[in-house]
Amino acid sequence: MKNIRKISLLLLVTILSTCGCGKLTTKPMTYTGTALDTVISLQIYDSSDEYLIDECVKICKTYEEKFSRTIETSEISMINNAKGTAVEVSPETIKIIEKGIYYGELSSGAFDITIGTVTSLWDFKAENPVPPTAEEITEALNHVNYRNIAITGSTVRLLDPRAKLDLGAIAKGYIADRIKDYLVSEGVEHALINLGGNVLAIGNKLDGSEFNIGVQTPFDADAGPITSVKINNQSVVTSGTYQRYFEHNDKIYHHIIDPDTGRPCNNGLTSVTILTDSSLTADALSTTCFVLGPERGMKLINQLDNVDALFIDSNNNITYSRNFQNK
Ligand code: ADP
Ligand code: MG
Repeated sequence: MKNIRKISLLLLVTILSTCGCGKLTTKPMTYTGTALDTVISLQIYDSSDEYLIDECVKICKTYEEKFSRTIETSEISMINNAKGTAVEVSPETIKIIEKGIYYGELSSGAFDITIGTVTSLWDFKAENPVPPTAEEITEALNHVNYRNIAITGSTVRLLDPRAKLDLGAIAKGYIADRIKDYLVSEGVEHALINLGGNVLAIGNKLDGSEFNIGVQTPFDADAGPITSVKINNQSVVTSGTYQRYFEHNDKIYHHIIDPDTGRPCNNGLTSVTILTDSSLTADALSTTCFVLGPERGMKLINQLDNVDALFIDSNNNITYSRNFQNK
């Protein structure tokens, strides 16, 4: 949350400096609210039609109602509660599950959208959160395997009836892309969409310069951004240990789970930031690389076209991907 506020603040500063230079006086139409269990914000620079904002918020809510694993009536809950029977779902749900399976394959299971049995053991919002027991984790891990998702036409069936889908690592990216599609279809050419730190730009700033997006100093929101990246019509997404975590007996337990252990990844990374065109890709890869760790994660990025990354380790050292140019 702190991270999200920091990013929003930075964007505001960017806007103010644009207005202050005397060339442009138009302030963006801005919205900040909560959805998807996080803070979302929109800045539209070339329209003042509030209907656009209302529609974007509606898009967010509609997808949340389909993809959430905690909303009982969502399509994901229907699949999770179907005890292995086939469930008819919307084309969007098929699409996002297919993407999840794709990143499962790409990472040989480091990224796994059937992580739901494990993630539901970790309650980051509890008043006094405690880590689950080793027995609970072992049992939950028996049901984590993205290969157990069977898609036939418009139905989804979990071959392991006790498996649970969790789209938390890709939903925000997918939804950001849909909001962008909508705004572009309405003629918007300059906007920023920020779904809980999943940032996606439409075009660039009105004065032609790139958007400058802050990357938070891990565990120190007051320190200001550790660095920033410039984007034009791209997405920048960060997965970090400091975004959702609790402390128990002086140890930090965060929300990115290693499917090999059922516990938060402990590989020296504190955050992974991905830059690429699609926000879904950036979201999926930020979690994937986080789980793969510094070496395997960076190797994967360096093999992909048109994807850049910066990794921050526990000493706040930053490593950039080979072709990184957005500094
Ligand atoms: P954030 O939700 O803070 O933007 P991420 O995109 O990295 O961060 O997603 C983390 C979420 O993804 C977790 O809260 C959980 O729902 C889910 N998740 C955790 N570990 C994995 C994993 N190994 N593979 C796929 N999804 C995961
Ligand atoms: Mg992600």
